[in-house]
Amino acid sequence: MTITVLDREGVAAEEIPQAISLGQLHDAADQVNDELLPCRVNNSDLWFAESPQDVEFAKALCKDCPVQALCLDGALERREPWGVWGGELFLQGVVIPRKRPRGRPRKNEVAA
Ligand code: SF4
Repeated sequence: MTITVLDREGVAAEEIPQAISLGQLHDAADQVNDELLPCRVNNSDLWFAESPQDVEFAKALCKDCPVQALCLDGALERREPWGVWGGELFLQGVVIPRKRPRGRPRKNEVAA
C-alpha cells in the first residue's frame, strides 16, 4: 500500500511507501513549499504545548497540511511518545482526544 501526498498549488502528488520514517516525512515535506506546512511557519512549540488551548490550535492547523496523512500514519507507526502529529495528540504512543489541564480535577461540579 502507498500513501499519496496531497497535490496543493501545483505541487506534484507523490506516492510514498507505507513504512514511514521521520526521514521520509521530512523528505515529503521538503517537496512542499514551507509556507504550506503549518508547523514550519508557526511556532513549533505549539505542537508540544502544555496548554490544552495551544494543543487544540496545533491540531486545527495540521488539518490543512499537505502531508497530514503521511505525518499521522508515521506517528502511529513510530508510536510517538508525545506531541501533535498529523492533527492528533499523542501521548505514550497512542492518540488521545485532548490534553488535560494541569492540576487536580475538581471533586465537585461547580454550578454555572
Ligand atoms: S501534519 Fe502537522 S505536525 Fe505533521 S507536518 Fe503537517 S503541520 Fe507538521
